[in-house]
Amino acid sequence: MVFYANSNIHPADEYAQRLATLRTWAEGEGLEVAEGVYDAEAWEAVVGRIGDAAEAKFGVIAGEEGDLEPVGDDASRPSSSEATSPDEGGAGTVSAEECADKGASPTAARAAREARCRACYRLRFEETARYAREHGFAAVGTTLSVSPHQYTRIIREELERACEREGVKARFADYRPYYDEATRRSREGGMYRQNYCGCRFSDAEAAAERDQRRAARRAARKAELAAHADERAAAEAERARNRAEKRAYAEAQARKRAILKALREQQ
Ligand code: SF4
Repeated sequence: MVFYANSNIHPADEYAQRLATLRTWAEGEGLEVAEGVYDAEAWEAVVGRIGDAAEAKFGVIAGEEGDLEPVGDDASRPSSSEATSPDEGGAGTVSAEECADKGASPTAARAAREARCRACYRLRFEETARYAREHGFAAVGTTLSVSPHQYTRIIREELERACEREGVKARFADYRPYYDEATRRSREGGMYRQNYCGCRFSDAEAAAERDQRRAARRAARKAELAAHADERAAAEAERARNRAEKRAYAEAQARKRAILKALREQQ
């Protein structure tokens, strides 16, 4: 049974599109899907409030995402950094300049984003664990842990907390080593793939992170061009020399032909 508990997703169209994608996939897999209550207002009252306070203090907290180390019993699996696809970026930090501008440390910005995400996990796991208890399920797991962009340790803590409250088992697994495979299979299956976690904050953060990556790529290209500027100048000078030599040779040949012609005409 897949339980879809995502009051975090903004806007409602996005919520519906992700749910429709899930339903299509689940049907093919023979899995049942139950939908939670989409209560964006409740999410805003708890999580949105925390996010707004953090945003007022730090602005858009871009680049602060995910746990780097494997979480759980299977610590021998590859780390999340290995599971992160290059074009989606890995964990990073808010730049020192950005934090200095706002009088904050990267650690404080990260903590603020973590607090928001913890509240978000809590709300959704509590709903899920309650549903599980009310419908006679023995255990709850989560697919959230497939993403290297999430706080895996906090996901585990919140899942266990919610399950304990409702008296069901928490079946946590760190699925990050399967992120690449999940990405590949969803692409191959032509599934809709979101480019942000779900809430309005993450939409802005993901856009800022894409901008950061674009800027980094531009800077790298510029540095690469600068690094090879001398080589390019030397090659261009060489080409100019060759062109001048060819021109001088052609002119000398033309002069020679003109002299020979004049001599022939005198004879
Ligand atoms: S980034 Fe994701 S987990 Fe964090 S608050 Fe937004 S929707 Fe929830």
